[in-house]
Amino acid sequence: MNKSSLTNRQTRKISANYIFPVTRKPLKNGIIVVDENGEIVDLIDTDGVLREQCGLEFYNGILVPGLVNAHCHLELSHLRNKITPKTGLPGFIAQISKREEASLEKIVRAAQKADRELHKQGVVACGDISNRADTFGIKAKSKIFYHTFIEIFGFDSERAKTIFESAQVLSSECYGDFSIVPHAPYSISTALFKMIAKNAETKKSIFSIHNQESAAENEMFAQQNGVLMARMKALGWSASDGLPPAKTALTAYFAKKPKNVNILLIHNTFTTKADVENVIKRKEKVFFVLCPKANLFIENALPDVEMLHCLGAKIAIGTDSLAANDTLSVLAEMKTLHQNFPQIAFHEILKWATKNGADALEKSQKLGSFERGKAPGIVLISKFDFKTKHLTKDSTARLLVEQGKLSS
Ligand SMILES: [Zn+2]
Repeated sequence: MNKSSLTNRQTRKISANYIFPVTRKPLKNGIIVVDENGEIVDLIDTDGVLREQCGLEFYNGILVPGLVNAHCHLELSHLRNKITPKTGLPGFIAQISKREEASLEKIVRAAQKADRELHKQGVVACGDISNRADTFGIKAKSKIFYHTFIEIFGFDSERAKTIFESAQVLSSECYGDFSIVPHAPYSISTALFKMIAKNAETKKSIFSIHNQESAAENEMFAQQNGVLMARMKALGWSASDGLPPAKTALTAYFAKKPKNVNILLIHNTFTTKADVENVIKRKEKVFFVLCPKANLFIENALPDVEMLHCLGAKIAIGTDSLAANDTLSVLAEMKTLHQNFPQIAFHEILKWATKNGADALEKSQKLGSFERGKAPGIVLISKFDFKTKHLTKDSTARLLVEQGKLSS
């Protein structure tokens, strides 16, 4: 870029006690220069000494790139406070499937509110599950970048083609980036799983699946029994159509998943060390997306985050839905991770909530870190503990600068 075009740009100079660029070490009293499109023009290391200068905005707290929510279900937002917590996954599924159908107006109003909340709390990109078209209009108009995962399930092999084709019809109504994905290994026939995988490979589309959210899920594939299997059988699941028995739920489908595309494994609450080692040694683009608050809500359990971190797993953060969470705040998930795994440094958890999420959604060319030329949005986190360099229970996040426009 030449000097004259730089001088023509309207810029803001923003500083805070610390800037966390994510891809390099934090800058004490650093300055971010950002243009009117949210693009980072410069990142200035002041060596910790901030001299007064014209037009400089200073904030108490830390500046971080816009947050990425890698797993959400906007269309379930009307179920906030409607589900009894800690009933386990089979109990949660029973409550969700027995619920009374809400009106479209109610669904849309709740999703709109949730979308605004997400944005206000610093989320700039979101991987969002849709089973229907209810939220497509909201996502099309939102300030947040959405990747829509059109999620399907079905136990009956003979219906696989019909189910897949209706997902294709649904995807034609979806604005922006989308993929067709399976719900979970226990809710899909082998035939439908293979169709989804083949399509993802051909289209090179991001793949996502709810993975090992409950101990009963592993039990279903390892021992062919347990509460989840009983629940699924009651809903029509059969061993002849479902994914075959395996050591764990993950191994039941992992060899059949699409190749050479991003794979988002959601939850991983009961993922074993052997599972993670097997995934990592294949050197594929696998992201372990953690939704700790939903795990506590449904199963009252948490993934072995320390194990995942120590083995070098690529971790990202999601919130799941308001059916299983009281907020869609990524910051709240970061606090929960910190409270339960205090040995993990803030800059690591921040990377999961920014850069790794952006990588997972294939948007890290613009989002996820403060680097010249990127436009990741700027979030102010207040009430940060500078001594321990970590979040406090009172920390809040607020979007100061919008992210730049993204091309699909
Ligand atoms: Zn989910």
